Amino acid sequence: MLHEVSVSEAPGRLESFNPRDGSKLGEVPIADAAMVNAVFDRARRAQVGWAAMGVDRRNEILNRLRGVLLDRADEIGRVVSSENGKPPVEPIGLIAPVCETIKLHTALAKRLERGQKVSATFFIGSRARIFYEPLGVAGYILPWNFPFELGMKHMIPALAAGNAVVQKPSPVNPLIGDMMVNLFRDAGVPDGVVQMVHGYAETGSALIDAADSICFVGSTATGKKVMRRAAETLTPVVLELGGNDAAIVREDADLDLTARGLVNGTCYNAGQVCNGIERIYVPHQLVEPLVEKILSVVGELRQGWQTSGGDYDLGPIIWEPQLEIYEAHTADAIEKGATLVCGGAARRDGGGLYWPPTILTGMTHEMRMMREETFGPFLAIMGVGSDDEAIRLANDSQYGLAGSVWTRDVKAGEAIARRMRAGSVMVNNALQSGGCVTLPFGGDGDSGVGRAQGEQAYYHYVATKSVMTSPDSAEALWMPYAATTEDFFKGVSQVFNGRGIAERASGLVSLIRNRPRGAGR
Ligand code: NAD
Repeated sequence: MLHEVSVSEAPGRLESFNPRDGSKLGEVPIADAAMVNAVFDRARRAQVGWAAMGVDRRNEILNRLRGVLLDRADEIGRVVSSENGKPPVEPIGLIAPVCETIKLHTALAKRLERGQKVSATFFIGSRARIFYEPLGVAGYILPWNFPFELGMKHMIPALAAGNAVVQKPSPVNPLIGDMMVNLFRDAGVPDGVVQMVHGYAETGSALIDAADSICFVGSTATGKKVMRRAAETLTPVVLELGGNDAAIVREDADLDLTARGLVNGTCYNAGQVCNGIERIYVPHQLVEPLVEKILSVVGELRQGWQTSGGDYDLGPIIWEPQLEIYEAHTADAIEKGATLVCGGAARRDGGGLYWPPTILTGMTHEMRMMREETFGPFLAIMGVGSDDEAIRLANDSQYGLAGSVWTRDVKAGEAIARRMRAGSVMVNNALQSGGCVTLPFGGDGDSGVGRAQGEQAYYHYVATKSVMTSPDSAEALWMPYAATTEDFFKGVSQVFNGRGIAERASGLVSLIRNRPRGAGR
């Protein structure tokens, strides 16, 4: 029997289903506000010990997690595939970025352990340093499309900085959430430092109220609610939201490579990818030959219903609400004049719900697919007359998450990348920069606030403390002001900003001559 949605909203319990066959995988308790608060109390106690352990010991434990992930790769592939529908090869492929995240943030924590020395500017003789203290307990609210990679990767900077973490995974994948807690525990992370709470919006709201920082990954609509709620407690947020990412194909593109890259960039994870390609701009004369090549690549892809094992490229749609968007966007495009080349209709098979790779040509910006996030395996192609037109159309969006440029002229591609309004742009590739964890990841406009990857991510989880130690001479700037103080200040400005040696020297003379009495004893 087909399941309409993958979760049951039975009060108190959250059931988990396999989206490929509808079979029940397990259930977990839903956390109400009181339970969420109890989890945070436990996290706060555990955080004290975790912070007190010191950077070296924490780093040792977090780096041990890399070994645990290697040993448990098959289990990770199996658990994620069964609850999330994607082929096991995809989560297994995402273990490497999680490991790189651990390396990046443990090294950064070590580098910042004793603070950062910065220039004391004109405060001669002072010491100026920045220290980064853990905020306390970091809260996470995550979506269903990459529950393992995002779930793991985003917690690492907070943990490396000495925080405890509490995560609310998507209600469609509670078991993947619980698996992550076990992975951390097996690496030696003390009890209570990494915890999950399960549920829907109510659980998420309670988590926002209790957390010291919020990392939210999900839709733009929910992201706005999260930010509004966090404003009540002035809790800092990083928001990783939706996208409508453009691919620009240049006249000189290698069409074979581009066809394969576009298919990968639209069909990976069955198209349910925030930084997946959603709109494709192609020079008019290349549309036909490119579509021919794309059709041949699409023909090689295997869908989950074609096999009973893990040997497939596109899994099922995770739940019914996605189907409504796919059908509405497809009907809207066709009604407004687009041509459906292939795909375009769902298939229900063996208890799973599938959407085939779908090619549409003749797209225009009047169509919803070119303006809103579709989040499916769609190759929506629009003909353009020049690079400039393609860039203008790519930037004509409320979103600004990711983009790609396809060209043999790498320099020209990189120049176009600089002109695209997007948090990440790739040349001759798409998606994969999200796995290059040294790069910040995030978006502009409706695609989000802040960056949740790269070294930038670390600073979301720390209280930045500036410490300045002054010598006795600092009293030169104190009250009460003497008649000479004004000239003394002018001298200071000239010494540090004088246009040439003469102005600087005259500033020095003024500074020494007018130094308030008693200063610099
Ligand atoms: P969603 O916004 O529906 O849900 C995300 C999470 O928020 C879930 O855990 C959900 O239970 C929770 N939630 C819902 N209402 C809430 C509320 N009022 N308060 C607190 N929490 C609440 O998103 P989704 O459908 O799970 O995921 C798909 C979306 O995620 C897409 O828009 C996609 O682009 C986006 N996404 C973005 C990134 C990125 O890095 N930019 C990555 C992956 C997914």
